[in-house]
Amino acid sequence: MYHCVYKDDILESGFINNTALAYKLRASVFENQVALIADYCIKNRKPMASVTFTFDDGGISFYNIIAPILEKYGFKGTFFIPTAYIGTKGFLNKEQIVELYHRGHIIGSHSHTHPENLSELSPKQIDYEWQKSIDLLSTIIGNIVTVASIPNGFESKNIIESAKRYGITRLYTSNPTTSYKEVEGVTIIGRYALQSNFSNQYVLSILHSKSTRLRIQMRWIILQIAKEILGKKYIEIHKILFNKFRI
Ligand SMILES: [Zn+2]
Repeated sequence: MYHCVYKDDILESGFINNTALAYKLRASVFENQVALIADYCIKNRKPMASVTFTFDDGGISFYNIIAPILEKYGFKGTFFIPTAYIGTKGFLNKEQIVELYHRGHIIGSHSHTHPENLSELSPKQIDYEWQKSIDLLSTIIGNIVTVASIPNGFESKNIIESAKRYGITRLYTSNPTTSYKEVEGVTIIGRYALQSNFSNQYVLSILHSKSTRLRIQMRWIILQIAKEILGKKYIEIHKILFNKFRI
């Protein structure tokens, strides 16, 4: 799981709040990670299609930087777009989304307005977020949209059921796991967030080491428990943890 990538200015693509900034990578760091993963696939005889690179937030860098790098190494991207931001400063416009789609990348929903905590909204509001976003994207690409990712990783039964109602069959979460689960006929797929401070060795160990992946998941579970206990305060505390300790 990635978000935006930047060349000169961290503010040039996507959201500019502190949590979003912590997930952004410099283009050279991103390319290094993609090259590393490509090399891992070649050495281990794994098809390039066995890796799914996903990108949240719909930033302009999906078009300017990310797609060309992925294509250079034989990969395609899965790009999740919060549709209320289409055509605004730092975000993809309609023409760029169409072009990415025609170049073989997958276009998915990332809700309409990217609420801070989708799971806290009423069922009607959750429906609106998926329906509006999926309708807009389907019209833009001229095909049905069946994949989505949940903003900020707040997964819930309501969110899954609502996404299903509007045609989503694969829903990506922020849960770092390789196992898939089926909920109400929707495949729920976890992801590993790759960050800018990860060494090459650490990126490779996420790919080949079960114990590294287990450690990542344990940390994530602890954060989920903190979310449950702290409720709204969690968002503030998470920002502090992210900024100070990158966790
Ligand atoms: Zn997001």
